[in-house]
Amino acid sequence: MIPKTKKIWVDGRFVDWEKAKVHILTHSLHYGGGVFEGIRAYETERGPAVFRLKEHLKRLFFSSSVLGMKIPFSQKEIEKAIIDLIKINKVKQCYIRPLVIFGYGVMGLYPKKAPINVIISLWPWKKYLGKNLKVKISKFIRIHPRSTVVEAKICGHYVNSILASIEAKKEGFDEALLLDYKGFIAEGPGENIFLVKNKKIFTPKKGSILPGITRDTVITIAKQKLNLKVEEKEITLRELKNADELFFAGTAVEISPIVQVERTIISNGKEGEVTKKIRELYQRIVSGKEPRYLKWLKFIQ
Ligand code: PMP
Repeated sequence: MIPKTKKIWVDGRFVDWEKAKVHILTHSLHYGGGVFEGIRAYETERGPAVFRLKEHLKRLFFSSSVLGMKIPFSQKEIEKAIIDLIKINKVKQCYIRPLVIFGYGVMGLYPKKAPINVIISLWPWKKYLGKNLKVKISKFIRIHPRSTVVEAKICGHYVNSILASIEAKKEGFDEALLLDYKGFIAEGPGENIFLVKNKKIFTPKKGSILPGITRDTVITIAKQKLNLKVEEKEITLRELKNADELFFAGTAVEISPIVQVERTIISNGKEGEVTKKIRELYQRIVSGKEPRYLKWLKFIQ
């Protein structure tokens, strides 16, 4: 169950958690044409701080533009709404979920005249996945880049993620991993993947993935702080299974080591050395302990 907080921000107003409701004929509920973000705020010595807020909001506005949705608030106003909501709900750390939907009023597949609703919820949410994950290569491929705009975080895309997750859990795995339409590694249902081989880092190149903000963080800090080489390329299943280390990266999962792909054990079933370094550095950055990356934190007040 989602831990309740006091208020949810709905179209500019702070509404009681229990009263934040939509009409059954809300357009996005029927066709999946909404967009959203997943952001985290962390506890720091200077109070809560939101990690890479600007980048997340930029992606939210990009995603909505793909669907032709005109958000009736500026990016600055949404930023302020999130900050105010954290204060009002008095949370120390939380997961933040902005959602933009086609509202109630019209049906049909050309929602030009539908009202646009913007909703921001947040709640304390610690870990999304456990550690030392076992992953299943899904029989479902990642959405085809010519069927939609994969770089947009569109609600309907997540049917693909839900199907892959159900399949993986049914077979006793912790998480799914999806291939792209060419058969290369794409990403997890809600996170990007990284491979370590001979101390070098690899990640699937853009094209069939959601280019994650955590992915960008990992690439940046691996190069700048850990002096590691990073290459974005097409990765085969064979390369994946031959990796020294594997890990997932995403806002919800943060940095999560993978220790098994199907029946193949990776890095002796334990978190690898490079993964550990990246995971620990990531934790230091998000909790405000790395001066160089304070620019990525928006402190509340
Ligand atoms: N891929 C998918 C499909 C996702 O849903 C997410 C989560 N937003 C990611 C990757 C990771 O993106 P981010 O690091 O921006 O959270």
